[in-house]
Amino acid sequence: MVEDYVAARGIHDPLVLRAMEKVPRHLFVDEALRERAYGDYALPIGEKQTISQPYVIALTTQALELDGGERILEIGTGSGYQTAILARIAEHVYSLEKIPQLARRARRVLDLLGCYNVATRILDGTYGWREEAPFDGILVSAVSASIPEKLLDQVRDGGKIILPLEEGESQHLVCLHKTDAGWKRETLGPCRFVPLVHASS
Ligand code: SAH
Repeated sequence: MVEDYVAARGIHDPLVLRAMEKVPRHLFVDEALRERAYGDYALPIGEKQTISQPYVIALTTQALELDGGERILEIGTGSGYQTAILARIAEHVYSLEKIPQLARRARRVLDLLGCYNVATRILDGTYGWREEAPFDGILVSAVSASIPEKLLDQVRDGGKIILPLEEGESQHLVCLHKTDAGWKRETLGPCRFVPLVHASS
């Protein structure tokens, strides 16, 4: 999977490639889907949600430019697969999931794999995690039309927010870099994510 669908498509960060080689993706999907776990596609994980495609996980993780000492906030734990990838690279991962069933299942797998540097909570991630802020990076795994405003203050200077944004019919992965000169925006490419559900909806 890593060689054919990730490295072959231009992902070059050795920490990302190594983490993806080590984390057993099949543990994050239902038994019935296990033999499809290493294909280059998203798969259903229940509750109308999906585990993201391996390439997208790699692209967004690489965009954070981690080197090991970071504290990362993830919004949308889902299956917990990307959480486990981040946990192998960063120092600490804080992950928020709105759907209790998914959050509990992800937590069980993360514990099974010994991801002790991951804190999980069942909460609306659009508010971020103020008590633990600021973060070196924030990764949002669900799409919205605008950037959840509360997240902007929860990134340290020099940090990044990676998120999918919806513009009309299309979705794009965006990297926002907090610099001395303000926010710098870079588009990473088209994508397809499930919606970020705000507390009011
Ligand atoms: N990277 C994850 C992606 C899961 S899909 C994986 O590969 O498994 C996105 C997840 O975001 C879903 O589980 C959905 O329930 C969650 N989500 C959507 N809106 C949310 C919100 N406001 N707060 C927290 N989680 C949210």
